[in-house]
Amino acid sequence: MLRFDIITIFPEFFREAIDCGIVRRARNAGLVEIIAHDLRQWTTDKHHVVDDRPFGGGDGMVLKPEPIFAGVEALTGAARREDLPPNTRVVLLSAQGEVFAQALAKDLSQSDSRIVLLCGRYEGVDERVADALVTDEVSIGDYVLSGGEPAAMVIIDAVVRLLPGALGSETSAVNESFSEGLLDYPQYTRPPDFRGMRVPETLLSGNHAEIARWRKEAALEKTRRKRPDLLNR
Ligand code: SAM
Repeated sequence: MLRFDIITIFPEFFREAIDCGIVRRARNAGLVEIIAHDLRQWTTDKHHVVDDRPFGGGDGMVLKPEPIFAGVEALTGAARREDLPPNTRVVLLSAQGEVFAQALAKDLSQSDSRIVLLCGRYEGVDERVADALVTDEVSIGDYVLSGGEPAAMVIIDAVVRLLPGALGSETSAVNESFSEGLLDYPQYTRPPDFRGMRVPETLLSGNHAEIARWRKEAALEKTRRKRPDLLNR
């Protein structure tokens, strides 16, 4: 079973986020286990301090390395990247990482993987974590969040829906945007005429071959118009 361990100073962030929709269903079906751990449990001082001032001066605080290394070691048995068990990934959420995309979601969705998600806060995480512990440094886009928690949830959601059986029979990840390098085709539902805006006739025709052709062309046209960079790739 795929397992996510999230290391965070706000485990409560995930309580409701992992308890709705497809993620909840996948957990209930035993396809994925998701556990949020409080980073402070791996501190050794009385006040459970996880941050400190940056060497060299400057604003803000930095997450200390000791509790993070201790946490990863407690969860995986390894305190350095090269000692991690097979199929184990330690992902640092970071504005400076590789930008998350469907290909990485697919890569992470291997069913027997163990994925540790490290959520930064404040000015970020002591660089020795990225240097010696993490296998992947991942950003969800070129903007700065206050913490890695929303980014971790984005990754969990995108990965879980790719697990075989996670989506109900009514939906499938196969035809979705990015799965074939294109955006999804336009979708319509009833009524066929809404305030004079009509659903394309082909979709009402019942001719499955024609509908498949229409969808393929519409997906291409939409991708060309909205995301031509995908076609260039
Ligand atoms: N000083 C850092 C910088 O300029 O790159 C930003 C730190 S940010 C305020 C605090 C934490 O939020 C980061 O350590 C990271 O875990 C998370 N974070 C911020 N932006 C992110 C993004 N685009 N993708 C993933 N995580 C992000």
